[in-house]
Amino acid sequence: MRLSRYFLPLLKETPASAEIASHRFMLRAGMVKQHSAGIYSWLPLGLKVMNKIADIVREEQERAGAVEMLMPTIQPAELWRESGRYDDYGKEMLRIEDRSGRALLYGPTNEEMLTDIFRTFVRSYKDLPQLLYHIQWKFRDEVRPRFGVMRGREFLMKDSYSFDIDMDAAVISYNKMFVAYLNTFARLGLQAVPMRADTGPIGGDLSHEFLILADTGESEVFCHADLLELDAPGAVDFGADLQAIVNERTALYARTEEMHDAEIFAKDVPKDKQVSARGIEVGHIFCFGDKYSKPMGAKVMGPDGKEHFAQMGSYGIGVSRLVGGIIEASHDEAGIIWPLSVAPFGAGILNLRAGDDDTDKACEDIYAKLGAAGIDPLYDDKADRGGVKFSRMDLIGLPFQIIVGPRGLKDGIVEVKTRKTGERQNLTPSEAVNFIVQQFKGIS
Ligand code: ATP
Ligand code: MG
Repeated sequence: MRLSRYFLPLLKETPASAEIASHRFMLRAGMVKQHSAGIYSWLPLGLKVMNKIADIVREEQERAGAVEMLMPTIQPAELWRESGRYDDYGKEMLRIEDRSGRALLYGPTNEEMLTDIFRTFVRSYKDLPQLLYHIQWKFRDEVRPRFGVMRGREFLMKDSYSFDIDMDAAVISYNKMFVAYLNTFARLGLQAVPMRADTGPIGGDLSHEFLILADTGESEVFCHADLLELDAPGAVDFGADLQAIVNERTALYARTEEMHDAEIFAKDVPKDKQVSARGIEVGHIFCFGDKYSKPMGAKVMGPDGKEHFAQMGSYGIGVSRLVGGIIEASHDEAGIIWPLSVAPFGAGILNLRAGDDDTDKACEDIYAKLGAAGIDPLYDDKADRGGVKFSRMDLIGLPFQIIVGPRGLKDGIVEVKTRKTGERQNLTPSEAVNFIVQQFKGIS
């Protein structure tokens, strides 16, 4: 992409309303535009990152055996009356009436809708387990929308739903999602810690929230320091028993403030391993048995010839929240530092003398080569001063910058800056391209 043809409306001033780094940088870098409290347009740069996050989430869901579908944003109130949640959900639910007076709502989650689909089509244990997901906009009329996309009212969520014949099988589905989440967040460059959580209005018994630690997190969390050092499981056989992996993560103390017990924490965690910090919830998994299948009559015939209510779980990831969450975890004073896996462009090319034949030619050549290698470069071909270009590129946080000017080119070199470390190297243009291509090897 050539910057001269891109839509990247940067802000010079930091908007006073933005209290935290991710919100400030997302506005300044032209990633989103706010229209109303908690309601945003995703501008091209922001959308690019969000799509990359969604792609990784999707790949890890598929690897775990989940199957993608798409449910609507608007739901009939009737389904929620059946489950009993229509009144319970309260003011967070945006209620709508259509022209003929039918009660609709903008979905805050989809348990009822998927239970309805399930009861329509699935009759036998032979068709179980089922694990379905979609990535769809949700609306929750939050009391206090804030921190930009971190607590929006309209936000993008990946939500999966599992259906099993009994509780033992439901736990197997739960464990699959547990492990898929560890891998998903690791690929996003995040250390997300599963913590025993309150189940809230979704209900049920078994539940973990996945939190990344950040000073600006909204929840207080308490955990064992060793949990912050564990690597993601990586390639595992999702057909095998995953309980050992789950046990490794759940044996050590990790709880959000609702579940925190100071006495147990002090007893179970050595003093030098006690971490108390702020956390951002990026995912939440629940196993809640027949909470919806029972009132909604979602039954299957079991091997014993009797009908059983499906045992269910649901599993959310805050896809749009993650855009902000990743920035909270990875930035400096100058701007964002994208992990390679979600960077909107793999590298920036800064033409320090646009209009000069040799400089233009060298840039075009690098641009073509990076493009051909699948790096998706952003070429700053504008006529601005060097200083403007440097700070713009630092702000939008691309992992690598190739700085091309007439002085270096006289000696056959360009400068490559690694955004994360600030390290600079003088390389020939083809070495620069090779270096960057190498860095992306193995990152998908
Ligand atoms: P929170 O405790 O932050 O309000 P929640 O527990 O109500 O979240 P869930 O119902 O577990 O949220 O939703 C699944 C995921 O969706 C959450 O883990 C979070 O990442 C994301 N999410 C929830 N509410 C919002 C919101 N208002 N804006 C952006 N993302 C959200
Ligand atoms: Mg939650």
